[in-house]
Amino acid sequence: MTTPPIELKPSSHPLSDAERDAILASPGFGRHFTDHMVVIKWTEGRGWHDAELVPYAPLSIDPANMTLHYAQEIFEGLKAYRHPDGSVALFRPEANARRFQASARRLAMPELPVDLFVAACDAIVRQDEAWVPAHGGEESLYLRPFMIASEVGLGVRPANEYLFLVIASPAGAYFPGGVKPVSIWLSEDRVRAVPGGMGDAKTGGNYAASLLAQAEAAAKGCDQVAYLDAVEHTWVEELGGMNLYFVYEDRIVTPTLTGSLLAGITRDSLLKLAGDLGYTSEEGRVSIDQWQADSESGALKEVFACGTAAVITPVGTVKSARGEWQQSGGEPGEVTLKLRKALLDIQTGKTADAHGWTHPV
Ligand code: PMP
Repeated sequence: MTTPPIELKPSSHPLSDAERDAILASPGFGRHFTDHMVVIKWTEGRGWHDAELVPYAPLSIDPANMTLHYAQEIFEGLKAYRHPDGSVALFRPEANARRFQASARRLAMPELPVDLFVAACDAIVRQDEAWVPAHGGEESLYLRPFMIASEVGLGVRPANEYLFLVIASPAGAYFPGGVKPVSIWLSEDRVRAVPGGMGDAKTGGNYAASLLAQAEAAAKGCDQVAYLDAVEHTWVEELGGMNLYFVYEDRIVTPTLTGSLLAGITRDSLLKLAGDLGYTSEEGRVSIDQWQADSESGALKEVFACGTAAVITPVGTVKSARGEWQQSGGEPGEVTLKLRKALLDIQTGKTADAHGWTHPV
């Protein structure tokens, strides 16, 4: 099956420059959407077809749409940054495309070719380029590619029709007032994902599964939940929407991909970037007992979380049923800030990209 070209059908009534500039002055996150979206259809026997860039608009959903009942839904998140020369580049879109294919396989959905995923991202960024913030800071245009089943009917089985879409939303700096550590609620009873489950797929169900624990964390005064493995309730896996890194004197460790945590693209980039900066970085297992003991003894120097939205967030206070401790005196650590700057400088085009991660649009 061939990859269809994306037909451009731009809006005849995009927001005015003044309206858009008012939004870009204080975009927040996920609150405003650009003038367009990309839609591509998939039908059993026909493959991908009718690829279009069209005005952003609501979808009309039949009440018996299969996604509403059986949750065949996957998504991605990636950012386009404005570089100092005024050009715009995406960060590692092929990596998101490959993860999207892996998520599709896990949910028995059709795989979108990598080039079509990237072409769809390019198309919306090109069309809505004026929406990419130009402040020269950490602001970006966040892209949300996703796929849903579009077949109408009841009955539990893979659907025979799907829709792939990309929408875009301007995102402000995650820490406008300077980097601040997050507090973590370490959930020892609720789990996010199980071995053999969908933890390594980016599917809405995993986030639905995390909401109750997130509400419990908020009630304890914490920002985020850290999850342990579902079998032994011992091994640290990840946060609800970010991976974790543990900084020791001689090495930087991130939990091994067990199948029940998401293979973050930021996590992967940092494994390589840490090496460039002269640190030893590795994947390994960190138990909850080790986290607490090493933090209290001072052997564990820093802990940080990472993901597309915040890039890198230091971890400060950790609370759990077993007690509470503070990492690095609750201040952002030196290695954390150094890695954050190094990665952001590549993403925003301030330093050379030796890895070929930036993708000019
Ligand atoms: N874990 C989970 C559960 C996430 O939702 C995310 C965000 N996609 C991450 C980790 C970080 O992944 P990435 O660095 O690719 O954004």
